[in-house]
Amino acid sequence: MKLEEKLVKLTESKYGKKIGDCTDAQLYDCVLQLSKDMMAESPVIEGEKKVYYISMEFLIGKLLSNNLINLGIYEELNDILEANGKALSDIEEAEPEPSLGNGGLGRLAACFLDSIATLGLPGDGIGLNYHFGLFKQVFRNHLQKAEKNEWIEKNSWLNPTGISFEVSFGKKKVKSVLYDIDVIGYENGRNKLHLFDLETIDESLVKEGISFDKEAIDKNLTLFLYPDDSDEAGNLLRIYQEYFMVSNGAQLIIKELKDKNRDLYRMDEYVAIQINDTHPTMVIPELIRILTDQEGFTIEDAICVVSRTCAYTNHTILAEALEKWPLKYIEKVVPQLIPFIKELSNRVAKKYKDERVQIIDKDQRVHMAHIDIHYGYSVNGVAAIHTDILKETELNHFYQIYPEKFNNKTNGITFRRWLLSCNRELAAFLTETIGEGYKKNADELEKLLTKIDDQTVLDKIYDIKQSNKAVLAAYIQEKEGITLNADSIFDIQVKRLHEYKRQQMNALYIIHKYLEIKKGKKPSTPLTFIFGAKAAPAYVIAQDIIHLLLVLSEIINNDPEVSPYMKVVMVENYNVSYAEKLIPACDISEQISLASKEASGTGNMKFMLNGAVTLGTEDGANVEIHQLVGDDNIYTFGKDSDTVIAHYAKADYVSKDYYENSPVIKEAVDFIVSKEALAVGNKENLERLYKELLNKDWFMTLLDLEDYIATKDRMFADYEDKQKWKKMMLVNIAKAGFFSSDRTIAEYNRDIWKLK
Ligand SMILES: *Cc1c(COP(=O)(O)O)cnc(C)c1O
Repeated sequence: MKLEEKLVKLTESKYGKKIGDCTDAQLYDCVLQLSKDMMAESPVIEGEKKVYYISMEFLIGKLLSNNLINLGIYEELNDILEANGKALSDIEEAEPEPSLGNGGLGRLAACFLDSIATLGLPGDGIGLNYHFGLFKQVFRNHLQKAEKNEWIEKNSWLNPTGISFEVSFGKKKVKSVLYDIDVIGYENGRNKLHLFDLETIDESLVKEGISFDKEAIDKNLTLFLYPDDSDEAGNLLRIYQEYFMVSNGAQLIIKELKDKNRDLYRMDEYVAIQINDTHPTMVIPELIRILTDQEGFTIEDAICVVSRTCAYTNHTILAEALEKWPLKYIEKVVPQLIPFIKELSNRVAKKYKDERVQIIDKDQRVHMAHIDIHYGYSVNGVAAIHTDILKETELNHFYQIYPEKFNNKTNGITFRRWLLSCNRELAAFLTETIGEGYKKNADELEKLLTKIDDQTVLDKIYDIKQSNKAVLAAYIQEKEGITLNADSIFDIQVKRLHEYKRQQMNALYIIHKYLEIKKGKKPSTPLTFIFGAKAAPAYVIAQDIIHLLLVLSEIINNDPEVSPYMKVVMVENYNVSYAEKLIPACDISEQISLASKEASGTGNMKFMLNGAVTLGTEDGANVEIHQLVGDDNIYTFGKDSDTVIAHYAKADYVSKDYYENSPVIKEAVDFIVSKEALAVGNKENLERLYKELLNKDWFMTLLDLEDYIATKDRMFADYEDKQKWKKMMLVNIAKAGFFSSDRTIAEYNRDIWKLK
């Protein structure tokens, strides 16, 4: 049957209407069904060995347009709808966004699933089906408020499987239900994302905002991602969630092995388990427990085969983000795991005396990463500099013991979503200019370099950017009620809010610029500063930084002397869908983390691919971007990671010294508590942030501020040289091929999974 006939059949059977008479929501429902039917017909990818990517987060974003692209029917469907007076882009708006992740780590997992299927490798995701996902952010009185994000509709991408497992928390037992989402490769077969849910989940537990009864595990377990972990109940719930996921995951993996009559003693020949950060670490003791308790393994054999099956990815060197659970918490949640964790810990203690490599420390806390490193066969960092820091500093004592386990896998992004889908105009132009090949072999983007002196190509890339900026300006007008000048420079920082990412440094630049304009020093081209960021509800300083940004936006946008030259927007509820609108419209990509702190970043790659120029520190994958594009096509600033690490080691960074020695820094910082700021904002928030910057500034904002201001000003000046800027855009796009997650996944497979 032809595509149009299929769709007509659906609209008539579901709604008794012709295509042109349906609402966008009705059409979304029908196109969803159409895609699901077509995906179900696509062959499941099979092989001797399969990888399970296990992760507490899969920030998949909306799926419709990506699935249509991967099915190869986007254009055809677009034409059919247009002929009936409908627009596919309107229909895409009707899809709710599942927010099953916080940020980069969860988005990486989603990009990886796309690439695993696209490369035709057998590999499934294992995660949780959070009913309200991560919170939805709204702004009230210049402050962030958290609300629940309802994303599951009657007809959705979730397919019930009928599979259910029992999970024990000591004597208490709960049952799971498994939903699968099909993951279709780009013009390739199908894998699955397995999302486990609680059979007895009770959505009515959530009354106001995102608060609920944290004790009622048998009702609340899969309501939210990352419940507030500032108190003990929140911590325990997180451990409940982690164990629920890994126990279900382990049972599913063993079931699939048995269904295929595989010998469990040779599990490592059929399965690789990639542990995404430490959150799924308990899968190691859980598998060992199941193999010994239920499959008759000796402890020796169980440890041996599980250690050859599990591999660990480290995503952070921030000490506060490395999980260290009190043994008594784990004991309260899953007492049955305690003997196994103790056994694993004792074996380490017998062999190594060094306190720094122990699993259970002197304070009876369990270091989850240490379980992964001792009892996994691979440890990887996510960008070259990050892996070097792990080897040389953070995990050096482990590197001494297991040098062969350590390897680097620089992150990547799927070009299907972050180019073909989000920037259709650029993708079409690239196809016209260098051919179709780059869609499957991203390195072919380099062909664009042969056009560096082709004026038509340079002009077209710039024009597409201008047109994307106009589209974004219209969207922001509608959503945020703020009018932007589409001919201004779009300078964008979107990512989770954290002091190490230093949104506060960008805010201080904005204050500086505002004061300069007030003094009569106007920029040649108007400037637009765009932010998007959610902050963890319990992270006080992050809330204060959001407050400052909203206050600055209010002051500056309403100042008739200044607003023709600069505007500031903090967009509400930054998520994957918003990212897809912001990134194609960006001129300057802000990647300004304190050197050594951003493991990789993936936002930096998305911006580069879409022709933005990076303003960044030598951190994470920025270092590799710099190497690829060369000094002339990136703007770097700030102290390098060795200098920063030395400051921490000697504890000799004193922010007040920088404040007192620089009139420019002093003026900008003082503005936070000026009469003007306090007239709009809250004294409590602004004073706390001011004091934090002066007395602590743990992530060294003031260390790099002057260099940041000078570099950013140089960048704005260079924007005036249109020809130079266009060439920088072209080089950035041409060199982005390395950051395709297809490359990353090919490396994981070559070095770690070795799928056959
Ligand atoms: C890519 C992405 C991120 C990660 O951004 P970084 O700048 O690497 O921190 C976070 N959130 C969303 C919605 C993303 O798409």
